[in-house]
Amino acid sequence: MATKFDAIVIGTGQAGPSLAVRLAETGMKVAIIERKRFGGTCVNNGCIPTKALVASARAAHVARRAGDYGVTIPGSIAVDMKKVKARKDAVVRQSSEGVEKWLKTTQNLTVIEGHARFAGVYRFRVGDELLEADKIFINVGGRASIPPLRGIDQVLYLNNSTMMDVDFLPEHLVVIGGSYVGLEFAQMYRRFGSEVTIVERGSRLCKREDCDVSENVKTILEGEGIKIRLGAECIGFDKCGDKVAVQVDCSSGDKTVIGSHTLLAVGRVPNTIDLGVEQAGIKVDKRGYIQVDDQLRTNVPGIYALGDCNGRGAFTHTAYNDYEIVAANLLDDDHRQVSDRIPAYALYIDPPLGRAGMTEGEVRKSGRQALIGKRPMTQVGRAREKGETDGFMKILVDAKTKKILGASLLGIECDEVIHLILDVMYANAPYTVIQRAMHIHPTVSELIPTILGELKPFK
Ligand SMILES: Cc1cc2nc3c(=O)[nH]c(=O)nc-3n(C[C@H](O)[C@H](O)[C@H](O)COP(=O)(O)OP(=O)(O)OC[C@H]3O[C@@H](n4cnc5c(N)ncnc54)[C@H](O)[C@@H]3O)c2cc1C
Repeated sequence: MATKFDAIVIGTGQAGPSLAVRLAETGMKVAIIERKRFGGTCVNNGCIPTKALVASARAAHVARRAGDYGVTIPGSIAVDMKKVKARKDAVVRQSSEGVEKWLKTTQNLTVIEGHARFAGVYRFRVGDELLEADKIFINVGGRASIPPLRGIDQVLYLNNSTMMDVDFLPEHLVVIGGSYVGLEFAQMYRRFGSEVTIVERGSRLCKREDCDVSENVKTILEGEGIKIRLGAECIGFDKCGDKVAVQVDCSSGDKTVIGSHTLLAVGRVPNTIDLGVEQAGIKVDKRGYIQVDDQLRTNVPGIYALGDCNGRGAFTHTAYNDYEIVAANLLDDDHRQVSDRIPAYALYIDPPLGRAGMTEGEVRKSGRQALIGKRPMTQVGRAREKGETDGFMKILVDAKTKKILGASLLGIECDEVIHLILDVMYANAPYTVIQRAMHIHPTVSELIPTILGELKPFK
């Protein structure tokens, strides 16, 4: 006999808990199922722990630069990796336990711990238990992709989850993958004191970004002593005593890089392979992402997919926004949809990259008449005062409508500054609204009106 619920949520990531609680508050009988740790990737192996580690790495970096500010720290700067990990663990624990307690104390909500697998269209098996509901919300997230690279099964490697257990300093960390996750780990471990090499198959780092962003990020990382091998077409692995030889096979430079540890950061895959979606007839694409419409409905009535597993976003804020869209449509008679959102994210190297809307490359490809404004951080007073002048700010505007099309802000505080661009984009207001706004001095944000006052047509 199956236990019947009004709604079942699978996964306690960034969409599931809020939705489960919202549904339970309406009086529905709801179950939420979690197979591992409460809070999912962001809380346990993603955003929160990495940003806690980035903060420790930044403290080490600033301490090493103390002399630049006239501060003398006698002796060399040492990093205690056990303490770094303990600090990160404490930050994670607070969030994960918070989610668990919240769910377990919500009325009408049953928390079930175990792996859920479809056993029919509206039916699940979790261990020996059968569960049933007419409304099902899939929030199973994703995990690190492990592609079939030559020799990968012969060597030990780390991924973003196992990196969370590291409480020692790798002598030489080889990071495979020069995109968002790989770059954050590369910079933090360099700052902790490891030798670090990034091996990237493509011809530039974070290739979804504009070339000027990729180039600047490379300069920043190389400036800290990180070695970067691009165009590494044929990545393979061999054991080399207790080390790993990573074959990079590039046209120039060494054919192999020998590291003490290897981190694979080459993308993510959805957690749908072990969910039994075929039992429910739910359509997935060839990479396993659940197909959804603009309101996150799958092809099966009453079944929704939210967060990373639907391939419509790959961030905590997109997963949470999925929850808001589903709740608005189901409970508030408010017609919200995925296509209303403006792409936005940050790359948390230091200094960070804040992104909103289109890249310059996308704007040029669209053939629009556009205006561009760009300023190096060396011309930003706040950055000079703080002695952190890496990066630049670039804003793109539609020449006809005067609406902002996008921005790439790489520099100190830019993960925050980007929101003033984003909010004007959401307000659908012309750029002149910010250009005429009086901003506070001295801030990084005060330069945004200046950049908008210097817009030039695309060449
Ligand atoms: C290293 C790293 C850094 C990141 N940094 C950022 C950042 O700074 N900002 C940002 O916005 N995003 C960041 N992300 C991405 C972010 O973590 C994810 O986009 C976000 O966690 C997705 O949330 P979700 O709700 O879709 O799924 P998840 O958070 O992955 O949660 C899914 C949950 O479902 C559970 N589950 C899966 N299958 C089953 C099953 N069959 N039965 C029961 N339970 C199941 C899992 O155990 C998990 O708890 C980062 C990711 C990584 C890897």
